[in-house]
Amino acid sequence: VVQIKSLHKTFNSSNRALKGIDLSVLKGEMVALIGPSGSGKSTLLRHMAGLTWGDRGGQGSVSILGETIQKQGKLAHTVRHSRAKIGYIFQQFNLVNRMSVINNVLMGRLGRISSWRGTLGIFTQEERSLALKALARVGMEKYAYQRADTLSGGQQQRVAIARALMQKAEIILADEPIASLDPESSRIVMDILKDINEKDGKTVIVTLHQVEYARKYCGRAVALKNGELYFDGPSEELSDKRLANIYGASQLSVD
Ligand code: ATP
Ligand code: MG
Repeated sequence: VVQIKSLHKTFNSSNRALKGIDLSVLKGEMVALIGPSGSGKSTLLRHMAGLTWGDRGGQGSVSILGETIQKQGKLAHTVRHSRAKIGYIFQQFNLVNRMSVINNVLMGRLGRISSWRGTLGIFTQEERSLALKALARVGMEKYAYQRADTLSGGQQQRVAIARALMQKAEIILADEPIASLDPESSRIVMDILKDINEKDGKTVIVTLHQVEYARKYCGRAVALKNGELYFDGPSEELSDKRLANIYGASQLSVD
């Protein structure tokens, strides 16, 4: 479902954030993207979401769900089309604070309904019941009519996942979804992502800075170092020695 070939991304004409990444992810995989700060994890994930594009003139390509989103030509259409099928989860949850939990989940529907209905916040009874189901899936149905900003971080992240479910996303891309959560909430959020991966067969790609979670939840780990793919394989093969090479010995003890 994701195919990336020799992807290069340079910022400000000299900061080479990605230096020729080749990566393919199959439907139903749960992949951890790891690596030190600044190694290019978020940049790579943003490419997968069609939120940004590789260097102009580079030979690289990114294809999501069979559609190439790298080429500039018919880009706008292609991106919109695939984006509807990509759920993006942020470290800071990105809910609309002043809206109720259920309305936040219903926002996941916006790409799929006529825009005037969405803009006016008019949703059908069926959509509302789907939203409640999505909330039940993440254990948050009893908070449906509360304002989003009254929830804890972990609860907000669960609502963000429900929104992606409402969107019927086929791929879930999560950028540090547990970085600002305590261990208990982190475990709950990772359990939910794993459950969606296993029971619904959704592809999940998640950047993590704690390697322990990568080992525990993701069968496959992809490690970046200085914009290059340093490791790609079963996460149990992330030996201490490999990790020391990825992060540098000094940082290893921090996590
Ligand atoms: P972290 O673990 O801290 O989130 P990361 O692995 O996600 O790090 P990226 O955010 O992908 O790293 O950044 C990779 C490099 O690209 C860094 O040098 C960063 O400064 C640079 N970079 C990322 N986004 C931009 C941007 N929008 N404009 C300029 N430079 C950027
Ligand atoms: Mg990042």
